[in-house]
Amino acid sequence: MATNSANIPSTAFDNLFAADPTGAALFESWIGPARFAAVRGHFVAMGQAGALATPLSARADRQAPVLLTHDATGERVDRVVQHPDYHELERLSYGRGIVGVKYRPGFLGADRDIRHLVGFGAGYYFAQTEMGLYCPICMTDGVGRVLERFAPGDPLVRETLAHLAATDMAELWQGAMFLTERQGGSDVGANTVTARQEGGRWLLEGDKWFCSNVAADAILALARMPGGPEGTKGLGMFLVLRQRPPGNGATIRIHRLKDKLGVRSMPTGEVTFERTEAHLIGGIGQGFKQMTEMLNLSRLYNAVASVAAARRAVLEARAYGSERRAFGSRLVELPLWRAAMADLVAEQLGAFLLAFEAVRALDRADCGDEASRRLARLAVPVAKALTGKLAIFIVSEAMEAIGGNAYVEESILPRLLRDCQVLPIWEGTTHILTLDAMRAVRKEAAHEALAARIGAALAGAAGDSGRADLAAAQAKAASDLLVAASRLEPELQARTARGWLERAGRALELALLLENACHEPLREVCLAAFDRLAARAFGVMPVGAGDPARLRPSEAPLLNSVRPA
Ligand SMILES: Cc1cc2nc3c(=O)[nH]c(=O)nc-3n(C[C@H](O)[C@H](O)[C@H](O)COP(=O)(O)OP(=O)(O)OC[C@H]3O[C@@H](n4cnc5c(N)ncnc54)[C@H](O)[C@@H]3O)c2cc1C
Repeated sequence: MATNSANIPSTAFDNLFAADPTGAALFESWIGPARFAAVRGHFVAMGQAGALATPLSARADRQAPVLLTHDATGERVDRVVQHPDYHELERLSYGRGIVGVKYRPGFLGADRDIRHLVGFGAGYYFAQTEMGLYCPICMTDGVGRVLERFAPGDPLVRETLAHLAATDMAELWQGAMFLTERQGGSDVGANTVTARQEGGRWLLEGDKWFCSNVAADAILALARMPGGPEGTKGLGMFLVLRQRPPGNGATIRIHRLKDKLGVRSMPTGEVTFERTEAHLIGGIGQGFKQMTEMLNLSRLYNAVASVAAARRAVLEARAYGSERRAFGSRLVELPLWRAAMADLVAEQLGAFLLAFEAVRALDRADCGDEASRRLARLAVPVAKALTGKLAIFIVSEAMEAIGGNAYVEESILPRLLRDCQVLPIWEGTTHILTLDAMRAVRKEAAHEALAARIGAALAGAAGDSGRADLAAAQAKAASDLLVAASRLEPELQARTARGWLERAGRALELALLLENACHEPLREVCLAAFDRLAARAFGVMPVGAGDPARLRPSEAPLLNSVRPA
């Protein structure tokens, strides 16, 4: 790291994986030493890509993509032009197998149980720098997951899967998912884009309002089926390929690109399907269900992006604080600075374990383990909701911990903060995730799978009975809260949900910290994080606490006080 007489350290990293011995030890213990040795090179490559990406991402963010609607002769082309550095970022990620690695034969066979762990684990190091492109990466993998699960035998799907997994840029097809329409994103059942059959072909018509990676080659879109019922049941799932049949892309009008707060390197557009040819993947009663597979995966990408941003933020702050001096000391020697930073590092580690627990549950579920499927059903929304909120908090705190030099654009922190703000919004807002977690509890008793997982983690931590008792007490408090919530009428139940979600996530984090502390190289850091997290009220979601019945009457006066005149 460079220091200078001006007392302004500049942080730089050669390899973000090499800079993370705790992460490496965790991945090794989860994957197992022999198999980790086989995939370590991929982690190193992604760690290096994350480091190399830093200046490229900064430029691609500043010079956001532009939409070229017409060519020189006045013909409509609807082409998105991106900065050359964005294409270099694509080579650093897709080209090094950030998606492709998961589609290698080993991960479709003997190593399926670590497929997502390796994919997300290595991708975490790239996401620490570039959250814009991480969104298309997510959707490319998500389209792959849906196709592989629901239409694997179809020749067009097989061709698409090969392109999605390509590491050669000339062969790569990137993915996208077009769900959201103007009338609303959360309420997907209100979608109006229509599908109809003409001469054996399916054609889509209508507007989509938020389309990230808008120029993608392989798009999954929901559209209303002829004769279908209202709501989500009447939606079909379609694969739209820009290049199949040739020229199909010209039927997707791109009206404009969104001028966004963050993730600016990646184009998000507004489009109209104008008799766009599409391939039916799932019809009435199936389309939305299939889309939840993609959403599930993209929520995990969101959680991993969240802990990645938080990790980069604490890494930057810690490195800066080692050199920067104030009042005759380095920042890292100042008691208040140290204590605050220790809390942030502990929160990041807890959230990291939470996110990767959900990833590992999905791996086990994909291998047929029913208990893990139920655990994932709850752990995914909990992890997505909590880590998204936490990322903003940690990045903001890390920015303050560095001070004014992190508020200016030479630092990565401003971009991280802008990029983070979308994490609680897309892939389902915090409220939608909270309600989804409640549904998982109500319909599938997913909290029992969570309690069983916490119990198993604590059983492994028997050597540390004091801490295990503390963690068990937190788990019981979360469970009691849930049981009490389940007895409430639905409206009050919804009002309690954010508080319950937070308690459940914290209880799982504490148990996971103790479980991983059993692995000697991780013992010290995990127990240190445990002690700090157990001592702190979990405060990333200050909204939604307290007794809902007692507080309900206070809603009207408060909401009315800010009602437009
Ligand atoms: C940068 C960016 C990129 C995006 N890319 C894509 C994309 O590629 N594809 C795509 O399909 N979509 C995309 N989206 C859309 C995104 O998924 C939606 O914005 C999101 O799902 C929320 O929908 P909405 O904005 O319509 O808000 P609404 O659904 O109108 O919700 C507004 C608010 O009401 C709350 N709310 C809604 N229902 C309830 C309820 N029952 N109880 C309590 N509160 C509730 C929500 O939590 C939210 O706070 C993108 C969005 C952004 C910002």
